[in-house]
Amino acid sequence: MGWGCGYSARLQHAAARLTAVSVVVCGCAAVASAAPPLIVDRVARVLVLYPYDERIAATTMIGEALRSRLLQATDGKIDLFSEFLDLSRFPEAEHVGRMGRYLAEKYAARRPDVVVAIGSDSASFISANRNSIAPGAKIVATGFGNTETNDLPGDVIGAFATFDILKTVEMARKLQPDAHHLYILGGSSNFDRKWLATARADLREFAKSYETTYIEDLTIEEFVERASHVPSDSIVVVLTVSKDRNGRNFIPRDAMRQIAATATAPIYGPYQTYIDNGAVGAYTVTFDSLGQTVGSFVIDAIAGKPVSSVDAPATYIVDARQLRRWGLSEKNLPPGTVQMHREKSFWEDHWLAATGAFGIVVMQTGIIAILLLERRRRHDAEAKSRLHLLEAIHLNQSATAGALSSSIAHELNQPLSAIRNNAEAASVLLRSESPDLELIKQILIDIQEDDQRAGDIIGRMRGLLKKRSEIDWQEFDLNDVTSSAIRILHGEAERRSITLDSDQRSIKLPVRADRVHVQQVILNLATNAMDAMSDAATIKRTITFATGRSNEKAELCVSDTGNGIPEERLSSIFEPFYTTKQAGTGLGLSIARAILETYGGAISACNRPEGGAVFRMVLPLARSEERDC
Ligand code: ADP
Repeated sequence: MGWGCGYSARLQHAAARLTAVSVVVCGCAAVASAAPPLIVDRVARVLVLYPYDERIAATTMIGEALRSRLLQATDGKIDLFSEFLDLSRFPEAEHVGRMGRYLAEKYAARRPDVVVAIGSDSASFISANRNSIAPGAKIVATGFGNTETNDLPGDVIGAFATFDILKTVEMARKLQPDAHHLYILGGSSNFDRKWLATARADLREFAKSYETTYIEDLTIEEFVERASHVPSDSIVVVLTVSKDRNGRNFIPRDAMRQIAATATAPIYGPYQTYIDNGAVGAYTVTFDSLGQTVGSFVIDAIAGKPVSSVDAPATYIVDARQLRRWGLSEKNLPPGTVQMHREKSFWEDHWLAATGAFGIVVMQTGIIAILLLERRRRHDAEAKSRLHLLEAIHLNQSATAGALSSSIAHELNQPLSAIRNNAEAASVLLRSESPDLELIKQILIDIQEDDQRAGDIIGRMRGLLKKRSEIDWQEFDLNDVTSSAIRILHGEAERRSITLDSDQRSIKLPVRADRVHVQQVILNLATNAMDAMSDAATIKRTITFATGRSNEKAELCVSDTGNGIPEERLSSIFEPFYTTKQAGTGLGLSIARAILETYGGAISACNRPEGGAVFRMVLPLARSEERDC
């Protein structure tokens, strides 16, 4: 292998070595002196060397990130070439030599300006063949640890990865605070052995807290077997198994997958590529960030800029599926850990829709609240105006009662006088020697009847003055209430020499309203009619009450033989405060209209051709009657 592993313990040394050639290595800043751009009259040529074939995910990921960084930075104006050296399957010197000659010939007419060597094998290859393949090209190395740069020429610059195994196990300790055992597995290749040696050095202190076992030099089957019997309170670290004891070669992530499949404790490993193959996680440089970093390096090199600081940043990375598999809490992860394959919560998945829905609900609630408030206000306002109307009606009733009081008193006087006269006559009869008992009996009957009449008059007067604090809804016949109004008016009409004519149909006119209010409307119309006829010849003074049905409504027309209403006033006669009377208030008609509108009715006025006015009021027929029709 040799493409991906670097060791933090040796970082300092390598950094110092590369700094000496004015480049930047793994977080150590150094500045090279400015130089003119490499190319001036054409686009730059960059050759990317992959050490093995295209199946190695790590190198492919670095290469892809590098390509996208270069294409994006140059707007596509760059010539990119890729070569897969296949040095794992063909490690022989003949193949290396053949490959060198082939590429030298292939690129004879298009010499690369920059060669990116991914992995230490590629770096060694190009170091040995640079004069024939890309003489004068800048060589940029990446994808391996900076400790493996020993054989590279001094002018090769690099973006190296460090794989800090200590940080990886510290993350494991946080995730598994109750672990007691530490197992570290490594294969049999030189690379694997180097890794094991580094881990031993780096984890010396850490291992003291655990019962630590190094498992090495086994066949792949034995590795799998051992991992499937470790206690559950173990931290298992798989470094690399690129070759087993039997000499079989493996792509390390494949070995990892086999070991992790039946392991009895969580497994960790230093590479990003282990993540999808059963490892819980690592502290590692992602291949994407390595590719991006080396991409920036290449861009600076092409531009002839001094090489700026390069650091391929490492990060904690875990597989959320493995956290679930082992019941490890994500709360124990180091801050900033990247979680791969994490299922998004409902909120994360649908936050936009949820926020929208929530917004709509809030908005609707707001609108509903406003509407309720508005309805409440309207309700209150309606209740208030109804109360005002009831008060106005009562004042109107009192005024009518006042206007009719003298005639009512006069009317009341009649039965009272009759009672008095009859009583006197009865007492005279009783004082006689042989009182006519039959006659006395008749007198007493008369007294009773007169008393009844007086009682009726007082009852009507009381009804006239009845005060309402709420509407008293009732169903009654418009004919009946018209008759009772005529009875109230009777005395006054007589006093004013007015004939009250009733033209009432025998059909029923049931309406739903407050009877006292409707009666008040009729009294208002009739008293106005009486006033309008005060100048008319007594012979002609007539008020007619005509009831009937019109368009499914109960109708009453009160017409008089007075002077009528001035034409220009007809449309505004129901407005409040219009009066032509000296002691008038101008409120009678407006109250009449308000009463009728409260019960769904209406009122209008017109003049009769033969003289006098007609007021027409209508009220909706009660529902029961509507159905009967
Ligand atoms: P008021 O009776 O206090 O004047 P109303 O609102 O009842 O108040 O009447 C307003 C005015 O309408 C009266 O002053 C009168 O001029 C006119 N009016 C009402 N009824 C008649 C009618 N039948 N004939 C002529 N004018 C009328």
